[in-house]
Amino acid sequence: MARSVAVLGAGIVGISCALHLVRRGFEVTLLDRREPGSETSWGNSGVIGRASIAPLSQPAIWRKLPRYAANRDRAVRFGPAYPARDLGWFVRFLASSRPRAFDANVRRLNALLTHALSEHEALLAGDSGLLRRDGWLQLFRTEPGFDASAGARALWYRHGVRFRVLDRDGLRELEPHLGPVFRRAIWLEDVASVADPGQVCRRLAERFASEGGAVLREEVRSLAPTDGGTRVGLTGGELHADETVVALGPWSADLLASLGYRLPVIRERGYHLHLAPRHNEPLGRPCLDAEGAYVVTPMTAGLRLTTGIEFSAPDAPPTPVQLDSVLPLAREAFPVGAPMDPDPWLGARPGTPDSLPVIGRAPRHPNLWFAFGHASIGFALGPVTGRLIAEMMGGEAPLVDPAPYSAMRFRRFGFGG
Ligand SMILES: Cc1cc2nc3c(=O)[nH]c(=O)nc-3n(C[C@H](O)[C@H](O)[C@H](O)COP(=O)(O)OP(=O)(O)OC[C@H]3O[C@@H](n4cnc5c(N)ncnc54)[C@H](O)[C@@H]3O)c2cc1C
Repeated sequence: MARSVAVLGAGIVGISCALHLVRRGFEVTLLDRREPGSETSWGNSGVIGRASIAPLSQPAIWRKLPRYAANRDRAVRFGPAYPARDLGWFVRFLASSRPRAFDANVRRLNALLTHALSEHEALLAGDSGLLRRDGWLQLFRTEPGFDASAGARALWYRHGVRFRVLDRDGLRELEPHLGPVFRRAIWLEDVASVADPGQVCRRLAERFASEGGAVLREEVRSLAPTDGGTRVGLTGGELHADETVVALGPWSADLLASLGYRLPVIRERGYHLHLAPRHNEPLGRPCLDAEGAYVVTPMTAGLRLTTGIEFSAPDAPPTPVQLDSVLPLAREAFPVGAPMDPDPWLGARPGTPDSLPVIGRAPRHPNLWFAFGHASIGFALGPVTGRLIAEMMGGEAPLVDPAPYSAMRFRRFGFGG
């Protein structure tokens, strides 16, 4: 008989796990309290590629800390009572910035990101028109701003990430409708993007259902190990499964706390707002205003402006200070008109201190699997994570050595139960 699997969470990560598992003959139920792909996997910037091989915690972070701590940098904002609230997380975050830890984490991120686009293509086969292959632009207003990207460029060069440096004329040729505020640009040509991340999720979830998977709209309330499986407590009853995959994105650690797992996954909040495109002035690809610390991505819903990170209490009301401060910059730089949403969207990147996701078997429960903590690159890494989980559960040789992503790495800090 086929083994039953409950996949908790229908974001890009859970959907990808579910699809890979159903294709390997498991009997899979995908559970979410909302429609598939309605949360973080909907609201992101839609960038897929190897540009993000540098973890957030890097040697240069120490230079930036005073600005971050004083809320003087648009990239990071601390809400009231931070960082005291997650002091342990920040200590581990800073420990990951040591050069040796940083280099190791770059290699580990690169190992996953190398497969990000090809695994999206494989899952979306037949629908690969949903992926745009126009690259991604990082834009610089000043020479010192460009010079500050030297570390990133050296890293890309070392790891074979293709990029081209453009001057004003080169940039104007590529993106003729940008305002004349950028002196330099880096074009990462192999990066892809999508015009609607939610649509990609829905398409994959439809595929999962059409290939024999069950999608259940339910709130997951509890988890309890049973003999040879797990009992998943739901608002409307319970479900027994031989194997359970926790893919609840930013909410994963909350549920696992009830089983004694104290995992360092926090919510790195971020906002987005859609702006109307100016008539006949298209934008060709996602752009990062590096000194402004925001991204503009052309999406079906409009030009989506996404902000940097806000560290705040998970249930604190929205405080879109970063969004308000970058809007004037976006207006002078991009062909944007009026806001299209009544209010900004608020979501959260599920962040670990070393910027690596948590993928693999739960340390103390053999039938429980973890697939979360993908921070700012989870949309890119969903399909490769799904493949890894399914390969491990099916006893196949995994595409990438999964050991560095195990929750066991937090055990020596007292995490892991
Ligand atoms: C502003 C911003 C920009 C980003 N840009 C990019 C980008 O350009 N590229 C990239 O790769 N990544 C990006 N990311 C990160 C990326 O969006 C996330 O890492 C990724 O979407 C996480 O996917 P997930 O499936 O783990 O989580 P989610 O998509 O959040 O899915 C988790 C699911 O669990 C469900 N759930 C939670 N609790 C329960 C419960 N108790 N019962 C039932 N269901 C529950 C939720 O409804 C949700 O559907 C960005 C994130 C933000 C916030």
